[in-house]
Amino acid sequence: MAQDNLAPPKVKAKAPKKASAKEASAEQTKDLGWPRSKKEIAEILSFLRSAYPKARCGLDFRDGFELLMATILSAQCQDKTVNLATAKLFKRFPDARSLAKADLAEVEDCVKICGFFRQKAKSLVDCAQNLVARFGGKTPGTLEELVTLRGVGRKTANVVLGNVFGIPGLTVDTHVKRISFRLGLTKNVEPERIELDLMDQIPKDLWIDFSHQVIAHGRTLCQARRPLCSQCQLTLCQART
Ligand code: SF4
Repeated sequence: MAQDNLAPPKVKAKAPKKASAKEASAEQTKDLGWPRSKKEIAEILSFLRSAYPKARCGLDFRDGFELLMATILSAQCQDKTVNLATAKLFKRFPDARSLAKADLAEVEDCVKICGFFRQKAKSLVDCAQNLVARFGGKTPGTLEELVTLRGVGRKTANVVLGNVFGIPGLTVDTHVKRISFRLGLTKNVEPERIELDLMDQIPKDLWIDFSHQVIAHGRTLCQARRPLCSQCQLTLCQART
């Protein structure tokens, strides 16, 4: 049975991951309200809830296996592209056992519309083989087990835990990373540290919805290059352009 996901990310005390020049520049030059007061956090949460009440996972899946594979494919790839690829993939390989025995070229053919498809196809087969060898073909329900699978990091694990098992987790993808920084919910650029900052500030029962709502905000208004600030009601945002 799935266990509650209480394990916070492990953040190395020394030598944190080097930020890109762009990230470092943003980090060094801006103070966008960190740390936010409880009142400000409540305002942000209220805005997200009212603006994106139906925000859900954009990946198509029927069970843990399908969401795990779809999330592995979703790195640097749009959900609609992943959904096209997985429709073909799951028709041919409906479960971990069939995918574990798959010919790699066939898997590559199914997912070739996704970026880095060769590397991802290898991760899919390897992950499926691990699921069969170590978990009887089932998708495990703990973060500790999920992150031992090939192609699965904390982000992917939290997506699966939240959407399949209902276990609270924060998905720090590119949208959550960018918007958390813009909203002054973090001053860090590394996903593990951002996750810790958010865990401290966002009530645990809202983690799953918060992740979906921020991702929806990133796709509709708070886009990376040209955020549509004139249409955004978050007046406290100091990144407003
Ligand atoms: S005001 Fe602009 S930068 Fe701030 S959250 Fe809204 S869209 Fe994003």
